[in-house]
Amino acid sequence: MSQIQIEKLARKEALQLGVYNAGMSDDAVRETWQVDHITRLGSNENPLGASPLVAAALRADLGHTGIYSDSASLKLRHALAELTSAEAERIVIGNGSEELLKLLCLAFINPGERVVTLEPSFGLHQIYPQMMGAQVELVPVNQQMEFDLPAWQQALSQPTKMLILSNPSNPVGCMLCREDFTRLIEQAPQDCILVIDEAYYEYCHHLSDYPDSLNVLAAQPRPWIVLRTFSKAWGLAGLRVGYGIASDEALAGVINRVRTPFNINRSAQAAALAALQDPAHVAASVALIAGQRELMRQQLIELGYQVAPSVANFLFFRAGGDSRDLAKKLLEHGIIVKPWREAGYTDWVRVSVGSPEDNLIFINALRGMYATQCG
Ligand SMILES: *Cc1c(COP(=O)(O)O)cnc(C)c1O
Repeated sequence: MSQIQIEKLARKEALQLGVYNAGMSDDAVRETWQVDHITRLGSNENPLGASPLVAAALRADLGHTGIYSDSASLKLRHALAELTSAEAERIVIGNGSEELLKLLCLAFINPGERVVTLEPSFGLHQIYPQMMGAQVELVPVNQQMEFDLPAWQQALSQPTKMLILSNPSNPVGCMLCREDFTRLIEQAPQDCILVIDEAYYEYCHHLSDYPDSLNVLAAQPRPWIVLRTFSKAWGLAGLRVGYGIASDEALAGVINRVRTPFNINRSAQAAALAALQDPAHVAASVALIAGQRELMRQQLIELGYQVAPSVANFLFFRAGGDSRDLAKKLLEHGIIVKPWREAGYTDWVRVSVGSPEDNLIFINALRGMYATQCG
């Protein structure tokens, strides 16, 4: 053990940082609870996994693992430029979109600056700004578990370095419609950096009132970046690829200066390129999930739970009591969900919409508990 006190060496922001709850691995659950089948409904993964084209691309690249990846991710950026109609110079690639959140904070946030984000929120929307010493202000959802427009207006009336919000939101699943999105960003100070996290874009971009954020943002003067990911609908969570579309080349350039040069490994680049060749796989996944989500919502309501509105691949529902108790009972059946830990929401659980088989295992487990309670 070191003779030097680590607490005296570390930055106070690092020492005080909250720990991201990444959930339990299958192996850990198997070992602790002695179950055979794991029902993974805690991380919003695609139950169908990735397109079969991805496995083929990974095999094809196996002979080249001794060679560094392309630091510029050139092919992938060009493919994404085509997909999004943005210039490749404005596209940045991250080791997951999580890395891009970190790089944005590293590049732009000075100690004491104000960052405004949603509550309940995706943990890293608070943790990375706090890492840089930001003062993070949370804007809670309203009683209907929707974006609270007046509260946002209030929060954005003071100097704000960065606004971070996910649309649709994680963990709630609620969506800012085009009109409200446009109004909300117009309330931000002119020099505020707008970070719009669209991790679940593929699940709702076809809805008529989901904002075309790239167009809305391009029509206003503030600097902005839209984050998307291959982890959710594209089924590549394990390979870590996310991307950002920035307002201009300069913003993309600053992010590139603070990232590690080979942040996207060869396999991840090859897999993302292959996945893009199979949009039908994503469309099929999205259609499956939308149907399953509505079924699950009905079943949860029938069991008496309050369920928040969701256009994404998960549902946020009120457990009634400490959500950890419900999560623990589900773990005994090998079912992983995410009990929410943020103050004010500790009786809520986020459950991913999975395969029809896994969703039924989850619902049947709840029905079993309900029967025991009532019987
Ligand atoms: C899942 C998720 C991410 C993480 O994406 P990666 O690309 O896997 O890093 C980012 N933001 C939100 C809101 C998410 O839910």
